[in-house]
Amino acid sequence: MSQFWKPGTEKPRLLDDEEGGVLFFAPSFSSSSSRFGYSSIEKQRQRLPVYKYRTAILYLVETHATTIIVGETGSGKTTQIPQYLKEAGWADGGRVIACTQPRRLAVQAVASRVAEEMGVKLGEEVGYTIRFEDVTNTGVTMVKFLTDGVLLREMMDDPLLTKYSVIMVDEAHERSISTDILLGLLKKIQRRRPELRLIISSATIEAKSMSQFFQNSKKHRGIEGEVVGPITEPAILSVEGRGFSVQIHYVEEPVSNYIQSAVSTVLLIHDQERMGDILVFLTGQDDIDAAVKLLSEEVQNRGRNSSGLIVLPLYSGLPRAEQDLVFTPTARGKRKVVISTNIAETSLTLEGVVYVVDSGFSKQRFYNPISDIENLVVAPISKASARQRAGRAGRVRPGKCYRLYTEEYFNNEMSAEGIPEIQRSNLVSCVIQLKALGIDNILGFDWPASPSPEAMVRALEVLYSLGVLDDDAKLTSPTGFQVAEIPLDPMISKMILSSSHLGCTEEIITIAAVLSIQSIWASGWGAQKELDEAKLRFAAAEGDHVTFLNVYKGFLQSSKLSQWCHKNYVNYHAMKKVIEIREQLRRTAQRLGIVLKSCETDMLVVRKAITAGFFANACRLEAFSHNGKYKTIRGSQEVHIHPSSVLFRVNPKWVIYYSLVSTDRQYMRNVISIEPSWLREAAPHFYHQQRPNPMLH
Ligand code: ADP
Ligand code: MG
Repeated sequence: MSQFWKPGTEKPRLLDDEEGGVLFFAPSFSSSSSRFGYSSIEKQRQRLPVYKYRTAILYLVETHATTIIVGETGSGKTTQIPQYLKEAGWADGGRVIACTQPRRLAVQAVASRVAEEMGVKLGEEVGYTIRFEDVTNTGVTMVKFLTDGVLLREMMDDPLLTKYSVIMVDEAHERSISTDILLGLLKKIQRRRPELRLIISSATIEAKSMSQFFQNSKKHRGIEGEVVGPITEPAILSVEGRGFSVQIHYVEEPVSNYIQSAVSTVLLIHDQERMGDILVFLTGQDDIDAAVKLLSEEVQNRGRNSSGLIVLPLYSGLPRAEQDLVFTPTARGKRKVVISTNIAETSLTLEGVVYVVDSGFSKQRFYNPISDIENLVVAPISKASARQRAGRAGRVRPGKCYRLYTEEYFNNEMSAEGIPEIQRSNLVSCVIQLKALGIDNILGFDWPASPSPEAMVRALEVLYSLGVLDDDAKLTSPTGFQVAEIPLDPMISKMILSSSHLGCTEEIITIAAVLSIQSIWASGWGAQKELDEAKLRFAAAEGDHVTFLNVYKGFLQSSKLSQWCHKNYVNYHAMKKVIEIREQLRRTAQRLGIVLKSCETDMLVVRKAITAGFFANACRLEAFSHNGKYKTIRGSQEVHIHPSSVLFRVNPKWVIYYSLVSTDRQYMRNVISIEPSWLREAAPHFYHQQRPNPMLH
């Protein structure tokens, strides 16, 4: 069995190779980086806790196929280890060191930090790739940061990921769906590529179970049957952090509104506590924007008292310049308040935080295979998350964490650990990716945590109805392979393929681009009434998707883009992103031999194409419903149109939604009206053979 490795005083000595790398090792303080001169960045690097383990890490990676590294957030795992590997020659001879992250924002932030530390231009020696954004230079980039999802996609062209010498799967404790799939596949690749090295790193992983997962990797045998190559048992290394103590405060009574309560807590800290930045954990863009607005208003009302407070949001989709503000050191006499999603829980470290306010919630994906509904829910976090959040307060000196829930709740009701995403997700994308990689027996796949068989069956059913899988559950040709090729949700990919037959690809790829970003509206400006009025200028009776086309057209026709956006409450950065994504989709479509045609003003075909992809999300308005109550056709679940939709209160009889969010009710976001007969046309199997659906008649 592997054990935690602790630095000792002995010389490097491998005790027990076969039994899995129990190591004793003298941490090396000699600096191999003195050749850089002692710039201040170099000094900062050497102060990080991982620096003491530099030699040990390089030694373990050299000798072990898999190294598991556990270390507190901010200890330097993500930014330093890839640099150590590069310095040690793992990127020589055109090879590349990869480091994956579950979150796009983290990929960008970390890559730009590492480029800065190495004194190179981002996109040259150090680069990054996220979906729709490739900032690397083949042949030049040595250290590449990417999302775990992008690395999975790369396997479609290069199944053994041959260009990488070391792959560091970072933030493994998050157990994102792509991380889990990746771990299963990397374990397979290791058998074929003994020279490949894996590093699994995280803040709080149950290192033992991860080690067990990689333990039964087969040993590589030479001709004589002798074991060759690196040690296949994983090594485990734990980086001792040096976080300061954090005092925990609980509320006495449960709070009814965590946004309001977070804002009052921040003001209280500002009034009563000494200097130091505040990090507030809320759940998503909506409540973060609301809190920023509320707090800014309070600060204004209170006049000079709170003048030193700088309030900043942090969530993915934030423009680059605003992201950078978050990392900018706080000026003397000022106090920064960063209101964040759980991206700041472990993925990103903000220096200078001394106070943490923890709402106790995060946005999580939940899927119910019975009702076949997946949505984003604001749900309680686990104890493990709560501890991580509190830890953020002890980075520079002893700190304080204010939990907006009771101690009793923490002790008795919070679950110990979160559930891996694969066990609470719709598996449609996951199944198609594995199929495209030639993995046919998906239930028999070597999962770090098995998905539920019900969810698997549901996914197979949808993929069959989409025409992506055939009767033998193999990818169909060409539809299945084409859908797998497009880097989007299979339902969107199918919509694009159908638009080709219907002659509206130009319109549909615009819609696909808009759907793949969070929102094109400037909702954060806080002027809801003005935003609603602006939306009306573009609103289409058919629904949100057609409204997007109107906005896009208006945007293209305007001469002063950013002014136009400002006037119309459209988010300029989001629109620029839409143009970029659209351009990439156009190229993908062309590669697949799809002829790009425009249907001009014929929105009927556009709606039919949407139906061809999203038939599974069809809903019907309940007869005699006065409050806009819909039921899903598939699972008879009650849903409502989201207030942000142009169809809110319009309530057409039949609609299709793009996604669901759940607050007090289940809300459909991005809704389009359809005719029920299109459903049978688009998916006869789904709505007919399986279970004759009385609602359709
Ligand atoms: P870990 O991966 O172990 O959580 P990181 O390597 O992300 O740690 O962070 C190490 C240090 O680098 C931290 O002190 C952090 O504040 C700093 N750092 C990381 N990213 C940035 C950035 N974009 N700007 C400024 N400092 C950063
Ligand atoms: Mg990290």
